[in-house]
Amino acid sequence: MADRYAVIGHPVAHSKSPWIHTEFARQTGQALEYGRIEAPLEGFARAVDEFRAAGGRGANVTLPFKEQAFSYCGEASARARAAAAVNTLRFEGASIYGDNTDGVGLVIDLERNLGRAIAGKRLLLMGAGGAARGVLQPLLERGPAVLRIANRTARRAEALAGLFQDVKGGGFGDLAGESFDLLINATSAGLANDTPALPQGIFARGAFAYDMVYGRDTLFLALARAAGAATSDGLGMLVEQAAESFQLWRGKRPDTAPVLAALRGR
Ligand code: NAP
Repeated sequence: MADRYAVIGHPVAHSKSPWIHTEFARQTGQALEYGRIEAPLEGFARAVDEFRAAGGRGANVTLPFKEQAFSYCGEASARARAAAAVNTLRFEGASIYGDNTDGVGLVIDLERNLGRAIAGKRLLLMGAGGAARGVLQPLLERGPAVLRIANRTARRAEALAGLFQDVKGGGFGDLAGESFDLLINATSAGLANDTPALPQGIFARGAFAYDMVYGRDTLFLALARAAGAATSDGLGMLVEQAAESFQLWRGKRPDTAPVLAALRGR
């Protein structure tokens, strides 16, 4: 029987992860099945328990369960511990190992796929949920000149920023009068046709705006274009973080370029 994997979230019907991992498996000659599990909002741990009991070997965890997934795993990688959020679980017997591949996925997409430097840039990260937590440390490691976190619920951004040196957090209104070269939207506002309430003038000349939401043109990206910024959605991050999860599970790194090109319909 093929090894079983799944993406667990709420909702998951829209997830492209099953298609991506099936392509990776085909490309690398691995026998595996990859499905979707929509866990009830109060039932994450039970859903994972059931999947493990049924022989599941690993899972990707998506919104809104990444912080719960960190509590669920017995052992976690350094990058998952820094984030206190897990997007990849690996099951081996009784052992449950957690990792967070979102940050490396974002950094590879920005630097390698999109040719955008992080080092030396004034960077604004919007959001303070699982996705923002996951990417913060890997972004800092690339050496931005400034890293600010802003969130709708300001105290969550303040608490997250407080875990790192030289990072300031607050609400969107606190950004008045500032501008940034690289603006990364790690909120789920785009899924609700909404955008973070950013003050005028936030996009510096030549700015690049990235929305982790993919598969739709979000209001944030439209706002960025109207202010003269170049933009990207989060499809490349999705494929790159998936490749990193696949490597953790199967010990092989797939080639992401043809998978990303196929998803973009090229
Ligand atoms: P989460 O833990 O539920 O956090 C949601 C975040 O969005 C919170 O900071 C929340 O602010 C903010 N938010 C929600 N609605 C908002 C609105 N209308 N206006 C402003 N802020 C709003 O979710 P997550 O796991 O961090 O995921 C966030 C997004 O990133 C999702 O859309 C997810 O699909 C995307 N993502 C993409 C990838 C990829 O590979 N491309 C990877 C990870 C995540 P409050 O704290 O005020 O509630």
